Amino acid sequence: METISDKKEILYKIANNLFWSWDPETRSLFEKIDLNTWDKVGHNPIKLLEEINDERFKSLFEDEEFIDIFLNVNLRFQNYLEGNTWYKTNFPNENNLTIAYFSAEFGITECIRIYSGGLGVLSGDHIKSASDLGIPLIGVGLLYSKGYFQQALDKEGWQKEYYIIEDFNKLPIELQRDKNNEPLRVEVKIADESVLIQIWKVNLGRTVLYLLDTDIEINSKQNREITETLYGGDIETRIRQEIVMGIGGIRALNALNIIPNVCHMNEGHSAFLSLERTKMGLEKYGLSFNEAKSLCYQSNIFTTHTPVPAGIDVFPKELINKCMKEYYTEDLQLSENEFMALGNIPDSIELSSFNMVHLAMNSSMYINGVSKLHNIVSKELWADRFKGMKNNEIPIGSITNGVHIKTHTAPNMQKLFTKYLPDFWGNELSKKETWNSINDLPANELWNAHNENKNKLIKFIKQRIVRQTLEKGIDANNVDLENILNPDALTIGFARRFATYKRATLIFSDLERLDKILNSQKHPVQIIFAGKSHPRDLAGKEFIQAIYKISLEERFKNKIVFLENYNLEVARYLVSGCDLWLNNPRRPLEASGTSGMKVVTNGGLNFSVLDGWWDEAFTPDLGWKIGDRKNSFNSDFKDEKDINDLYNVLEKEIIPLYFNRDEQNLPNMWINKVKNSISELSWFFNTDRMVMEYFNKYYIQAFKNYNNILLEKSLN
Ligand SMILES: *Cc1c(COP(=O)(O)O)cnc(C)c1O
Repeated sequence: METISDKKEILYKIANNLFWSWDPETRSLFEKIDLNTWDKVGHNPIKLLEEINDERFKSLFEDEEFIDIFLNVNLRFQNYLEGNTWYKTNFPNENNLTIAYFSAEFGITECIRIYSGGLGVLSGDHIKSASDLGIPLIGVGLLYSKGYFQQALDKEGWQKEYYIIEDFNKLPIELQRDKNNEPLRVEVKIADESVLIQIWKVNLGRTVLYLLDTDIEINSKQNREITETLYGGDIETRIRQEIVMGIGGIRALNALNIIPNVCHMNEGHSAFLSLERTKMGLEKYGLSFNEAKSLCYQSNIFTTHTPVPAGIDVFPKELINKCMKEYYTEDLQLSENEFMALGNIPDSIELSSFNMVHLAMNSSMYINGVSKLHNIVSKELWADRFKGMKNNEIPIGSITNGVHIKTHTAPNMQKLFTKYLPDFWGNELSKKETWNSINDLPANELWNAHNENKNKLIKFIKQRIVRQTLEKGIDANNVDLENILNPDALTIGFARRFATYKRATLIFSDLERLDKILNSQKHPVQIIFAGKSHPRDLAGKEFIQAIYKISLEERFKNKIVFLENYNLEVARYLVSGCDLWLNNPRRPLEASGTSGMKVVTNGGLNFSVLDGWWDEAFTPDLGWKIGDRKNSFNSDFKDEKDINDLYNVLEKEIIPLYFNRDEQNLPNMWINKVKNSISELSWFFNTDRMVMEYFNKYYIQAFKNYNNILLEKSLN
C-alpha cells in the first residue's frame, strides 16, 4: 500500500462491494472523503471517487484521522469477508449447495434504482442476511436503465412521474466478460426473435447478485426496452421481462458456470425459470420430461406476497403463443394444451390464459406466505387449487417477513446496541437473549439518540421542502423555514406505497378533531407523509393530492407535510426520526408490511391495524392497535370503527403517555414501551431469522431432494 493509486484501488474495491450499504462505518469513510459530493452524487461511491481530484486524495492520505478510518474500514471489510459464519459453523462440509434467489426488484441502496417498494426492499434484505449468515445464495434480477419512476407533485399536489436514465458504468456493478474479454452474453428467443442479454454483477458482502440487461445495440428497439422500466410498459413488455428473467436468468447462471440446485422465486414474476430448469434436466441429466419436472419441482421454493388476485400476472393465450410457441414446442416438446396447463389449476379445462402464480405453484414443492395471517388468507385465496383439502391441509406454509437490522437501524442506535448488547455484531441478532440486556440501556441515552435522529429528520425535511417549493415554481419566501415541524411535538410517520387499501387519508376523516389534536398548546402533534402512487392508480394519486391540499390549510401548515419521492433514503430518515409509525390498511390486505419493523430498532413505536406482521407482533405493552381482528376487504362500516379507534387511542393513550414526563423531561413510561418493543420484536422480525427459517424449512430439504433424484437416476 505505497502509492496513492494503490490506496485508491482499495477504495474502489470497498466501493464495489455493497457491504457499505449496511455498514455505517464504511459509509462514514465516503462521507469523510467529501460529504457534499457524497450527497450530490446520490450516495453512489463510484461517482464520488470519480469526482475527487488527485490533490484532494493526496491531502486525505496525509490526514492521520482519515488514514485511521480508512485502515479500520478496510480491516472490517476483510474481516467480514473472511470471518466465520453461521453456515460455516453449522455446515462445515457442505460445498455444493447453490441457491438462486429470483426477484423482479431489489432494494439495496438508493443509488441502484431497481426497486419500487416493500417487495424489493425485502429481496435486498434477504440477500444481505444470506451474506451475513454465509449462506451460498445468489440473487438474480433485472437491471432497469430507467428503474422505477421519480415522484414530484405539481402546484395542485398532483403526482408527476419522471425517469432518470442510469449510466451503468458509473454504478458499483461490473459487466461480466468472457475469456476473450468480450461481454458475456446469453440468448433467449421471444416471438421468433433472438434477444441477447448481458450480465452485471453486484457484490453484496460474501454473496453476489446478477442483473440482466437487454439494452444492447444488436437487439431491436423493442427488445432493448425490455429492461428499461420496472413495472412500466404494457402486458407484452411484462411477459418479455419475465422470459428474460426466468429463462434468461437460468441461462446466465449456466454461462457463469453456476448450476443452482435450489431456486427460490420471490413472487411469480420469475416462474418461467421452472421451464428452463426442466429443460436442463432433460438435456443435461437425460431425464424424462416427468423426471425433469419433478427435479425442478422438488427443489423450487415459491413465496407469494399478495392477498388479492389483482396484481398477479395473467397472460392471454395469444400472447403466450406469440412470444413462447417456439420455446414450448421445440425446447420443451409440449403441445399448446400441455403448456397452457402449466399456468393453470391442475386439471383445468379452460386454458385461455396463463397465470404466473399457478405456474409457480405447479412447479414448487415449497410454497409460503409472508405472515401467519397472510398464510391463512392465501390458503383461502388459492383453495380452488387444492380441492377436497381442509384449510389446514393445504400445503402453503408461513414464514414471516423481517428486515435487515444493520441496514435499517440508524448508526447512533447501532452504537448503543454494540455497547449494551454484547453479541449484537456476532450474528446473534435473532436470539431472544441477545436483546434482553436492552434493560441495561439507560433511558436518557436511548431518548437522546432517538431525538438526535428526530432532529436530523426535521433538518432533512426542511431542505427538501425548500427544494420541493422551488421546483413547483413557488417563491421560497413562502416557506416558513423556522417553523416547519416542531422537535418537541409527538411526530407521527406514515410512508408507504399509495395503494388505496392502505387508506392513507383515514386520519383526515374528522378534520375538526384532527385540528384539536395537532394544535394543542400543551401536547402538540405533527404528521409526516411520504409515498408514491402507481402511475396508473388515479385513486392513489387523489389520496396524495388530498393530503397535499390539507397540508396547506392554515390550521395544518407546518404540522402536516408531504415529503416527495419516497425511497430508501427518505425511509431511513423517517423510520429513525418518527416517534410513532402509523399503519391503517384494510385488514387483511397487507400481506406483511415491513416499515413498522424498521421503526422498532430505531426506538419508535407502532400504531397499526392488526394486519400482516402486526397481527402477530402486537401486545399492549409494546405498541397500539387500531380496530379488531375482523376482516374488511371493502366495508365502510369497518372504516368508521377504525376511524373512531384511531382518534380515541391517539387522544386517550398515546398522546398522554408521550407527554408524561419526569423532572428531567424524560417520558419514562414511553421509553419503557420502546424498550419492550425492541426486546420483544427485534430478535424475531429480522431477515437473519427469516432466512434461517427459509434455510431450515425449505432450502436444505430442497437440496436433499435434488441430490436424491440425481443419485437415484445415476444408480439406475
Ligand atoms: C421498507 C420500505 C417499504 C415497505 O414498507 P411497507 O411498510 O411494507 O409498506 C417500501 N418502500 C421503502 C422505500 C422502504 O424502505
